Amino acid sequence: MRSLDDLLAEGVSGRRVLVRADLNVPLDKTTRAITDDGRIRASLPTLQALREAGARVVVAAHLGRPKGAPDPQYSLAPVAARLGELLGTEVPLAADVAGEDAQAKAGQLGDGDVVLLENVRFEAAETSKDDAERGGLADRFAALADTFVDDAFGAVHRKHASVYDVALRLPHVAGRLVATELDVLTRLTRDPERPYVVVLGGSKVSDKLAVIEALLPKVDRLLVGGGMCFTFLAAQGHGVGKSLLEADQVETCRRLLAEAGDRIVLPLDVVCAPEFSADVETTTVPVESIPDDQMGLDVGPRTVEAFGRELGGARTVFWNGPMGVFELAPFQAGTRGVAGAVAAVDGLSVVGGGDSAAAVRQLGLDEAAYGHISTGGGASLEYLEGRELPGLAVLAD
Ligand code: ADP
Ligand code: MG
Repeated sequence: MRSLDDLLAEGVSGRRVLVRADLNVPLDKTTRAITDDGRIRASLPTLQALREAGARVVVAAHLGRPKGAPDPQYSLAPVAARLGELLGTEVPLAADVAGEDAQAKAGQLGDGDVVLLENVRFEAAETSKDDAERGGLADRFAALADTFVDDAFGAVHRKHASVYDVALRLPHVAGRLVATELDVLTRLTRDPERPYVVVLGGSKVSDKLAVIEALLPKVDRLLVGGGMCFTFLAAQGHGVGKSLLEADQVETCRRLLAEAGDRIVLPLDVVCAPEFSADVETTTVPVESIPDDQMGLDVGPRTVEAFGRELGGARTVFWNGPMGVFELAPFQAGTRGVAGAVAAVDGLSVVGGGDSAAAVRQLGLDEAAYGHISTGGGASLEYLEGRELPGLAVLAD
């Protein structure tokens, strides 16, 4: 896989370079303001290096999940503004993805200038399962530049036009962020220092069962919290009230628990509330007695203590998925506690996942205390599962 330095060594002054970046930041539902700009900041090293080398930079990115057509709610306009502030230069936003305006704006770039294309998912072809359809869009991306840099680590598990197909059409290299992420994930997979502890949380157990399956033989402990713990608790025979439950996964969780022995560690207590709200009365109960009319929205203090003990002796830690609904103040303590314990690890600590990384920053924790904060949730998990990621495979050729 060629690196950005290989490209810079060739000289890029005056050349048009298409950079696929991961600028998929969370926005406030009502004001559309960016609530966490971590991914934009993570894309700066590659963009700055290209600008300083005199490249004419065309940036492609997605935001959220629009339905394959322009939708102002998902416009990259706030991202273009923030990117411009951080780069210290005007970043115009093309009115389309790879149409007339994109062509015109890319054509007008001077050396060191940057233009952002509109949300690539405004084109249905971006995520199409049909190779020819994606190829048509990729041809238009390729016409905007003569070199491709993939720096969108959070999207490398997607076989999308701006990630995969465009790399088949242009000389390509991996950006700095992709290189850093790969380096850390390699350290997690090749002979990690032990004890190796993985902490999983977040909302969807079905998304993460494959990674649990793949990691179980490799880890010393797997701590499970967040919304996904309730399917495991149900598999142990506990009532989980109105908590998040994926009934069709209970059987799989039961088998995993049987296989894992004491390596899977589940919560001891949970913080419950009758509804999903910031101003409800909460009760903390042992997992054996979750009331029928309540939902578990965070792990309790005894759990934080128990998870902390496991993390205390660990030499390698990977954490993905918040322990509770950290977006609401009454359900932050679990995530805060585990985040603190992960930060204190004496060894390699890696935080993966968009929401987990956002939680670290929103809760005001010191980012520097972690070995690495990954921008990619799904991508990191699929890598750790040992799956081939299309966006990386295509860069390797
Ligand atoms: P990441 O982006 O870090 O991979 P996920 O997307 O899997 O994490 O999950 C994040 C979401 O999980 C958060 O929005 C959080 O509110 C939610 N969550 C955590 N615990 C619970 C819970 N007990 N019930 C419902 N949702 C939860
Ligand atoms: Mg998420």
